[in-house]
Amino acid sequence: MSSDIKHRIIFLGPPGSGKGTQADLLSKYFSIPHISTGAIFRETLENDKELGPKIKDILAAGNLVSDEMTVNIVEKRLQSDDCKNGFILDGFPRNIDQANSLASILEKMSLPLSYCISLQVPEEVLIERILGRASEGAGRSDDDEEIVKHRLQVYKNQTEPLCKFYNDLGNLVEINGLGEVLEVNKKILEKIQP
Ligand code: ADP
Repeated sequence: MSSDIKHRIIFLGPPGSGKGTQADLLSKYFSIPHISTGAIFRETLENDKELGPKIKDILAAGNLVSDEMTVNIVEKRLQSDDCKNGFILDGFPRNIDQANSLASILEKMSLPLSYCISLQVPEEVLIERILGRASEGAGRSDDDEEIVKHRLQVYKNQTEPLCKFYNDLGNLVEINGLGEVLEVNKKILEKIQP
């Protein structure tokens, strides 16, 4: 799709809400990069001999990596050439301090945010989805039931307050994340098409 509009989008949603899948579809639709901090950290864990060991226990426990390391990684990534036409952030920001850091990064680069898409899915469904994924062997090492519950709690305490943060800025778009992948994608596109 070619367009002069530069979409700079944040995806908010608890673990299992399908935000990675939806971010991916949207990234292909608009031909803009999908930046998943979770994926970056999993890759760091596997391949970075220096940083990998530092984040191993944090990821395994479902806790948040330090804001300093996270913000540094995202800031560098946003300065890459391929972000010039827009980008989709998935998994960042994850708390108010990260949101404030992102605001200063974007302000420095004179890049206004377009939307913050919040995917909403009831908690029972989230747990079912993630544990289902794990039992099919498609899960991740942090998909154990206790860790999943902890990740959901971390989301509630630290990330959910960002809905109000972005609502106050006028950027929030709330989407019901129940239903087929393509139906949810359609609902998102209806809200963000010019
Ligand atoms: P989830 O499906 O739980 O939302 P993600 O793939 O987004 O998972 O993230 C996996 C893990 O990576 C998180 O539990 C956390 O340890 C780390 N992580 C991802 N994004 C961030 C972030 N913005 N700040 C700190 N830690 C993060």
